[in-house]
Amino acid sequence: MPSVGRIVLKSGRDKPVRNGHPWIFSGAVGTLSGDPQGGDVVDVCDAEGAWLARGHYSPSSQIVVRLMTWDEDEDLDGDAWRWRLTRAVALRARLGLLADPDGACRLVHAESDGLPGLVVDRYGPWLVLQALSVGADAARARIAPLIAEAVAVHVPVRGVYERSTDDVRDKEGLAPTAGPLWGEPPPPSVTVRERGVADPIAFDVDIVAGHKTGAYLDQATNRRTVAGWCGGADVLNAFSYTGGFALHALAAGARHVVNVDSSGPALAQAAAAAARAGWVVADGREDAEDADAGAAAATGTGRMTNVETNVFGYLRACRAAGRSFDVVILDPPKFVHHAGQVDKAARAYKDLMYVALQILRPEGILATFSCSGLLTTDLFGKIAFGAATDAGRDVQILERLGQPADHPVRLAFPEGAYLKGLVCRVMPGRGDEAVTTSTA
Ligand code: SAH
Repeated sequence: MPSVGRIVLKSGRDKPVRNGHPWIFSGAVGTLSGDPQGGDVVDVCDAEGAWLARGHYSPSSQIVVRLMTWDEDEDLDGDAWRWRLTRAVALRARLGLLADPDGACRLVHAESDGLPGLVVDRYGPWLVLQALSVGADAARARIAPLIAEAVAVHVPVRGVYERSTDDVRDKEGLAPTAGPLWGEPPPPSVTVRERGVADPIAFDVDIVAGHKTGAYLDQATNRRTVAGWCGGADVLNAFSYTGGFALHALAAGARHVVNVDSSGPALAQAAAAAARAGWVVADGREDAEDADAGAAAATGTGRMTNVETNVFGYLRACRAAGRSFDVVILDPPKFVHHAGQVDKAARAYKDLMYVALQILRPEGILATFSCSGLLTTDLFGKIAFGAATDAGRDVQILERLGQPADHPVRLAFPEGAYLKGLVCRVMPGRGDEAVTTSTA
């Protein structure tokens, strides 16, 4: 695709581009020539007119160009997508994530894989594509067969389905869109496997109606890590979605996991996967609870309870009822969508951690996460400290968690880092009865 437009940057705005940052903000643009339409290829030059890079134009976004090449000789045609997709797939193959035909992983992590605005996740033989920028949107029909071909070298691929339904498309002036792009359409539910502490954990994914592309693959390694702290434990898995943390915790020997989420369909999927794995599943009613607890205790089987409610209220209800846990997992949705929301989000994260620490037993473990990229790791640590201070508990950080290797972060694009987590221990005080739970 030849360049149809040329942007000359304002003086002094070329340094990030030279360093490989892939975004041109509208405020950095001096002049635009040619008549590019959304998705067209444009050249970007410094204030003196020297060629810097080339990418796709997005007129209604604050990010007016997403750069793809810094090589003046490279055309942004099909082959430009093809070799980058193959490079991204090669990383996942190297990570061993393309060995299991029923495995799941992120295949393409957008800017961090040199493919701006493009996300592709794999659930067994089904690939799910999200186009989050005008450039990726315009190229998606070309991308679908290319990614299928690159993955099929390693494992069978039956179809590529589009789930371009994320809100960030608004900022690009794009409407939500979904549907099959290549091959067969996916079935209503796909069962995939994720590596657990011991054996793989099976869980169900709803590609068509689930959140994001169907699941939160970014927590795969953190689920194993947290499960390592759950042996023999009573676990509260807050913001559980389809119970990923719960299934791993039960497989690692948790006694009881309570999933709390506002999504009924997600909890139904958690229950189905748990029942299939042989765990005792309660429906969250207190009367059923006692019978199920007895059945689980009699067989020594782990137990799952699913509660469809607001986490903020549930935590307070536990505190009021004097209910306590050995492990609390907090994995809320993204609270910060733009910089102006950081303060309010910080209060919400603090509130969750504050009440969670109050309902943890001595020796209890808090696993707390934030997937808000605009909230820094440093601030997240400070929020945890504030919550511990207010809760009057002495807390140690045991592990610092982040993104798995299939969600890489390019050094030239620090915005690609968004997920952070802390595994903390409530230090028992003098006279506190030490609770014996087997831990990692
Ligand atoms: N821990 C999950 C991912 C959580 S995503 C996993 O490992 O797969 C965030 C979840 O929080 C979503 O499932 C969403 O339905 C739920 N949610 C958002 N706000 C909520 C609230 N106030 N109370 C309960 N659940 C909420």
